[in-house]
Amino acid sequence: MTASLLGAGFFGSSTWHVLRNLLLFFAVVFWGALGYWVYKDARRRVEDPWLVAMATVVGLVPPYLGPFLYMLFRPPEYLEEVRERELEIRAIEERLAARDLRCPVCRSEVEPSFLVCPVCTTRLKQACSSCRAPLEALWQVCPYCATPIEPAAVAPLQPLGAPPVPRRTE
Ligand SMILES: [Zn+2]
Ligand SMILES: [Zn+2]
Repeated sequence: MTASLLGAGFFGSSTWHVLRNLLLFFAVVFWGALGYWVYKDARRRVEDPWLVAMATVVGLVPPYLGPFLYMLFRPPEYLEEVRERELEIRAIEERLAARDLRCPVCRSEVEPSFLVCPVCTTRLKQACSSCRAPLEALWQVCPYCATPIEPAAVAPLQPLGAPPVPRRTE
């Protein structure tokens, strides 16, 4: 008897109203925060803005349950990670392509250490006068034995298809 009276008094009181409004307020804030979290997460994972909007709606519409549904179906990777991986793969491909050296005349594969193309006998690189190591055209000094390279000793490669310089024989 006293308990039910106490209960009725409590639920009828203004304290209960304040508490109920406060609970409602937090419920709405939590619902909105979950929706915003879904929106932010979807933007990091999905490129299409329509799909991001749809994900946000799913995050809001079954209240509190939507974010879990979204988490079941969201893409597993962030867009940044996908882009980074693509860049890495491209860098590896470029590195592999750079290693794939070819003779400028006959296009057959040559090693970086070759002085002469073994197929068409085109001179590819100058050898060091001291240790016979193959030298790059830009090098000023042999990196293997520290012998300075005379500028005349390294002839730049003739551009592909350039006609030979005519020499006067008179
Ligand atoms: Zn060749
Ligand atoms: Zn050398």
